[in-house]
Amino acid sequence: MPSLYIDGAWREAETGATRDITHPGDRSVIATVSEGGSADAQAAIAAARHAFDHGPWPTTPTPQRAAVLARVADLLEAERDDVARLEALDTGKRFVEAQLDMDDIVAVFRHFASLVQGEAGRVIDTGMPGISSRVVHEPVGVCALITPWNYPLLQTAWKVAPALAAGNTFVLKPSELTPQTSIWLMDALERAGLPAGVANLVLGTGQEVGSVLTGHPDVDLVSFTGGLATGKAIMASAAGTVKRVALELGGKNPNIIFADADLPAAIDNALTAVFLDSGQVCSAGTRLIVEENIHDEVVDELVRRAEAIRLGSSFDDDAETGPLISDEHRHKVHAYVTDAVAEGAVLRTGGTIPGGDLAQGSYFPPTILDGCTTSMRCVQDESFGPVLTVETFSGATRDEAEDAAVALANDTIYGLTGAVWTENAGRAERVAGRLRHGTIWINDYHPYVPQAEWGGMKQSGIGRELGSAGLHEYVETKHIWHNTRPAKAGWFADPSDNHEGN
Ligand code: NAD
Repeated sequence: MPSLYIDGAWREAETGATRDITHPGDRSVIATVSEGGSADAQAAIAAARHAFDHGPWPTTPTPQRAAVLARVADLLEAERDDVARLEALDTGKRFVEAQLDMDDIVAVFRHFASLVQGEAGRVIDTGMPGISSRVVHEPVGVCALITPWNYPLLQTAWKVAPALAAGNTFVLKPSELTPQTSIWLMDALERAGLPAGVANLVLGTGQEVGSVLTGHPDVDLVSFTGGLATGKAIMASAAGTVKRVALELGGKNPNIIFADADLPAAIDNALTAVFLDSGQVCSAGTRLIVEENIHDEVVDELVRRAEAIRLGSSFDDDAETGPLISDEHRHKVHAYVTDAVAEGAVLRTGGTIPGGDLAQGSYFPPTILDGCTTSMRCVQDESFGPVLTVETFSGATRDEAEDAAVALANDTIYGLTGAVWTENAGRAERVAGRLRHGTIWINDYHPYVPQAEWGGMKQSGIGRELGSAGLHEYVETKHIWHNTRPAKAGWFADPSDNHEGN
């Protein structure tokens, strides 16, 4: 079936190329999709450019734009299980988790539909008679939206919903590994009444399709979610035409447990923090930073609990987490663990590729590396797998303990998320205030709401998604100055004026 969506029509790739999509749980082929290339990317950009420059969408009143978003939310609610099934098949994540992703996506579309209707410019009081000065909001233009494989439709919704709400047109390029829910979204947007050319989908690789989108002069904005190295390449490519760039990159996220924490809750959440979706979560709490005097108690319990986690396929009701996205990715995660042990980390559990029934998929067990220090690569680099590193801190006084924990937690090039566990509310606020990460959880891990901004400090990214800032990424701000009593500026002498004394 043709699976590129360009100018309101489904098309095969210009070259006729296709790609088989495989289920990570058993490597079976679940779909065959069109594999776009440079010519398809160019056609999609031309369609989006035309729809922006000549189409009705950028100037469609916001209530009507919001109504399209609300209809997409309605369609997803009605088709939730079918779309969740596609997501689970593409990613290998548990079906129940994919269902929860769908609920989040509905909330994201509703959030931006509501937010955009409250958006207004502002009038400036200049204090000058006859002058009207106002600031107005306009869409940025043609957006290139490039997304990863771990939360395919969710990450896409974080971009598509605000881009459309603000009146932009776009070309979406999802990960080549997980395209099926993007195909559903294009169909849903068409059914929701979006005009042709506003939304365009080109499947294919970053090298073939992504690089065309990020360098093209007719693209005004690139919003990217993915790895750090790709983000740097995209920023460099976009610099050639000074595009607006929004980047949501990786994380190496600290999860700090003080001795005065509610330990059963902290330990249980430390497992969810790192092993949810087999660690393939940008905000995963992969760095456990634990106070020295509770280290043994906490880590022994984590090992016991990690060994009890049941791996299995998306539709296995007994499974608690699924496979990695591919054998290639599993190879990287495995090498990361082997290197960590060579660096001096102590492998407490996991670290080996499972056999038996699990040999049919790209599974990797929950893995805990103890005795880590910040100089180790395993503490600094993102494995994007189910791997927890453990570091300890201590201090003779309250302040020394907090200083030591904060110093470790901030000793990373990343700054996406972090958590602190303590029953001392003052300590919780002091530490949260000092962590250089975009989201901080106190006595919790992972929840988010679309009303609050999401994004990273330092090399975890540029800009914010969700909240109100997530809409403003897609908005241009224009100042309009209107002199209702035009008069000569009088700065330069006009020789033809009849000056006094001549
Ligand atoms: P990736 O960087 O390999 O790929 C992401 C997307 O970029 C894919 O669509 C890919 O095809 C495309 N791409 C690759 N090279 C490109 C190029 N040169 N030009 C343009 N596009 C290109 O990332 P991934 O492996 O798909 O996803 C995992 C990464 O995503 C992790 O690092 C994770 O932390 C990050 N992530 C971040 C967030 C966040 O909110 N900060 C959320 C999810 C994932």
